[in-house]
Amino acid sequence: MGPIFGHSGRVSPQLLPHPRTGQLFPSPVPPGTGWPGDPATPSTPVAKTPAQVRRLAASAKTLDDLDAMISVCRACPRLVAWREEVAVTKRKSFADQPYWGRPATGFGPEAPRILIAGLAPAAQGANRTGRVFTGDRSGDFLFAALHRAGLANQAVCVDAADGMRLIDTRMAAAVRCAPPGNAPEPAERATCAPWLAAEWRLVGPSVAVIVALGGFAWRAALELIADRPKPAPKFGHGATATLTTAYGDVTLLGCYHPSQQNTFTGRLTPDMLDDIFELAKQIGNERDGQ
Ligand code: SF4
Repeated sequence: MGPIFGHSGRVSPQLLPHPRTGQLFPSPVPPGTGWPGDPATPSTPVAKTPAQVRRLAASAKTLDDLDAMISVCRACPRLVAWREEVAVTKRKSFADQPYWGRPATGFGPEAPRILIAGLAPAAQGANRTGRVFTGDRSGDFLFAALHRAGLANQAVCVDAADGMRLIDTRMAAAVRCAPPGNAPEPAERATCAPWLAAEWRLVGPSVAVIVALGGFAWRAALELIADRPKPAPKFGHGATATLTTAYGDVTLLGCYHPSQQNTFTGRLTPDMLDDIFELAKQIGNERDGQ
């Protein structure tokens, strides 16, 4: 059966098996239907405007609540249309899989020492698997490095039921929906910002270091802080800045984004990423007095 436009957006009613669990899903995946790690239910409130994002993000009392609301957000018409279009049309090599087709929430423990901030999910990666950085080359590079650093229990990430567990580390994107050309518009970045601010409010007390993957994540991290240093510290690979936050001093640590453009050209090598995570761990340990 071909794709149809449902009342909530574009939906392919064709049921396909999740590559690991075998459960059948349409694309995009309706909330609360059994997708691994789906935090939402059919009654989770849906933000449809920037004002609703701000209100719901401010109302979140727990990460579970926040993740549920993020995962059903529909506040950016262009991004909602794109993520659902990709979920319905699919890349040929994934044509036999259902696509998540919804925003990607943060991933990792509730009280991390390290927060990794990225730009946005990949259309054929997290938009397919439902877990940030999972299912694309950037994620392969990143999770392998986290595993070498002892910050992930396994090196390979494939789907949201692969058993991946992060240790002392949480990752979140500044924009939660896959954008066309990996380029969210300024208004979309602004609309999505309250979700990251709410995540920071909930996990910030435990965080010693924010690793910003790329200049956009660096700026998004700075925007989380009310008392921003002036002039604003400049992004660079290995650059650091001490941020005075409501929860104490936090180190902002810059890292080139593990995009294929950077990893294929050798601008970012596994050794360089290993050095970043060793430094992040060291900063975390120092703050804990270990
Ligand atoms: S980008 Fe953010 S604010 Fe916009 S629809 Fe996705 S989750 Fe909602």
